[in-house]
Amino acid sequence: AKVAGKNCYRFYSRAMDQAVERRVRMEQELRGAWERGELSVAYQPVYRLVDNRLVGAEALLRWHHPEQGMVSPAVFIDVAEQSGLIESIGPQVLRVACRDAKRWHDEFTTQEPLFVSVNVSPRQLRSAELPGLVEACLKETGLPASQLHVELTETAVIGDEFHASTLLSRLRSIGVKVWLDDFGTGFSGLSHLRRVPVDGVKIDRSFIADVLRDPDDLALTTAIIAMAHSLGITVVAEGVEKEGQYAILRERGCDLAQGYWLGHPSSAQDFARLLI
Ligand code: C2E
Ligand code: CA
Ligand code: CA
Ligand code: CA
Repeated sequence: AKVAGKNCYRFYSRAMDQAVERRVRMEQELRGAWERGELSVAYQPVYRLVDNRLVGAEALLRWHHPEQGMVSPAVFIDVAEQSGLIESIGPQVLRVACRDAKRWHDEFTTQEPLFVSVNVSPRQLRSAELPGLVEACLKETGLPASQLHVELTETAVIGDEFHASTLLSRLRSIGVKVWLDDFGTGFSGLSHLRRVPVDGVKIDRSFIADVLRDPDDLALTTAIIAMAHSLGITVVAEGVEKEGQYAILRERGCDLAQGYWLGHPSSAQDFARLLI
């Protein structure tokens, strides 16, 4: 038994070593990826349910790895966050997104101005520089503040809610809208809404996935919509993959939606084709 235990331990530590090694390698490869042109920003359309109109886009980071091809941010954003690399990548994403949104604004006459929504990581939110950076990007690109949204997850506000709400209030006073991402997955979504000023919540796609089959998920989704509306905030559903999901969200009064059924993330050029 002793021997088996030892082997078991060895195996475990080897697996751990490999995981650590992978992270270290990824960190090295990610370093300078922006400068080498391996990182880009994709845009997923966001639609308003009452009139089925395109109203904005979410900016999503993409990594074209030289050997592995396209790597999802779900895989590398953690490494970027923990290594601190996000502090250089995050501002680039913001800059590119503002620049592209301003271009759509200038080149296409849409019924109303489109917004672009940018994901901000916990580390970016903790650095006091965020409002200054946002202001600089808006000034540099000429994008009106009302057309920029920032998305943050609950984990970004947990810990220092006072700091978070101060920063978010500053962003909102500039005119930028703040959305709480992956809403419903944390344990304390409701209490955050009381203390942290936000303009909207994005219902996590795990709720939307089962909304047609699971009465509990439909009840929770309906309750989130009602609660958000009673607080005067907007509700976005993400991960809409079927027409039936879209229909039921529309019926329940959800404001905005995005998902593969409505449109996949695509390059800025491909997104612009939706505007013609
Ligand atoms: P997220 O903010 O929840 O973004 C939505 C994710 O769902 C995106 O994955 C999007 O491609 C995917 N998605 C969209 N529609 C559907 C659908 O109908 N079904 C399913 N199954 N998935 C859908 P992606 O692009 O791989 O991004 C993963 C996560 O990485 C994002 O989740 C976000 O948390 C993070 N991320 C992406 N870009 C950035 C960034 O620029 N900065 C930071 N800090 N995080 C980012
Ligand atoms: Ca998001
Ligand atoms: Ca989300
Ligand atoms: Ca379920």
